[in-house]
Amino acid sequence: MMKAELVMIGTELLLGETVDTNAAYLAQELAALGIDLYYKSTVGDNWIRMIEVITQALARSDLVIVSGGLGPTIDDLTREAVAAVANLPLELNTEAMEMIEAYFRQSNRTMSENNRKQAFLPRGARIIPNHWGTAPGLIVHIRDKAIIALPGVPRELKGMFAAYVSPYLESRIEVKQTLISRTLKFAGIGESKLAEMVEDELNCQSNPTVAPYASLGEVKLRITAKAGSRERALEMIHPVERRLIQKLNPYYFGADQETLESVVGTLLRERNETLAVAESCTGGLIANRITDVPGSSDYFERGYITYSNQAKVELLNVNPELIDKYGAVSRDVAAAMAEGAQAGAKTDWSLAVTGIAGPSGGTSEKPVGLVYIAVSGKGNTKTKQFRFNGTRTEIKFLVSQAALNFLRLEIQGVR
Ligand code: AMP
Ligand code: MG
Repeated sequence: MMKAELVMIGTELLLGETVDTNAAYLAQELAALGIDLYYKSTVGDNWIRMIEVITQALARSDLVIVSGGLGPTIDDLTREAVAAVANLPLELNTEAMEMIEAYFRQSNRTMSENNRKQAFLPRGARIIPNHWGTAPGLIVHIRDKAIIALPGVPRELKGMFAAYVSPYLESRIEVKQTLISRTLKFAGIGESKLAEMVEDELNCQSNPTVAPYASLGEVKLRITAKAGSRERALEMIHPVERRLIQKLNPYYFGADQETLESVVGTLLRERNETLAVAESCTGGLIANRITDVPGSSDYFERGYITYSNQAKVELLNVNPELIDKYGAVSRDVAAAMAEGAQAGAKTDWSLAVTGIAGPSGGTSEKPVGLVYIAVSGKGNTKTKQFRFNGTRTEIKFLVSQAALNFLRLEIQGVR
């Protein structure tokens, strides 16, 4: 099996100024080709350290893909470093020179003297044409191993990988394998609790593998299968997916590209039902998420952002006595907000949230992160109390997540 390794070059990556999107792209492409990727290194534009990292990569991997450092300026040293590691001289490559000249002619720009530098390549290197910029890429073979160097500009790297590198790698893979993943998403449950519930599925798995991971307000299980074809991999994933969903109902809400807002939208559309929201502490975030879904006008009627007590009274018809008696952050006010929104908008469903996003404004009785969420529909109103931790922004997102999940469960009729 071919083992690949990535070497990402650029001081901007180490400074955190540029996010390394090239590595994510290359990793996904290699997985799709069924090529194992075991290591990824990042190194600055430093000649000595570049040679060190590329040498190490070549010692333990069959294929080293280098990104960046092919530009025309003096800090672009990848050509020199690859030549040094491969022990080859750099020489003017006339084919590369012609390509660079052609690029400038075609884009009606004048070539500067330092672009000539980009045509100096290790002797015998194979050229990867760059139709998106000036720097040609290169492939250097060292015994049965190879180094592939691509420019760092993401548009150029992607264009060149798709057009030339991917077909080249495909032709070199003896037994074609593909790695396909499916990500199941869960809400309303923590990562460790979920992992515990499906412990047997997580242990002793080799193909497909199941791996849990979490992001804010969401836990995921990634099922990955390796097989000779995409269809076969999906066939292997399917039974595992069904078992996991069965065991983890009702926390499961969707897979891959699906989000809580898209799932809620699909449920409403299927039922031909409509929704209004009334938001206090989320300040419109829930409505924003719902309307991020294309076609949401089919089911989303309106949103009320009722931040002040007065707004809750005026726009949602909340009885001011409820606010006096229980406070704006209370179960009763959340329920009254949901009922007011539903009555005002004449929708099938309504969702209301009221809470304390912090960092100030909390009391010992009503701490930061305390939230009440209400869902109205089918002739009744339900409320839930939550307590979240985090920054103001995190709490707002967690509230929107819990609210959409609560609504999803109510529409699905899960209690
Ligand atoms: P280079 O080929 O090293 O001259 O890189 C050109 C530009 O591409 C840099 O200035 C960055 O903005 C961008 N870039 C370089 N490496 C990466 C990477 N790994 N991921 C995303 N962008 C990158
Ligand atoms: Mg660079």
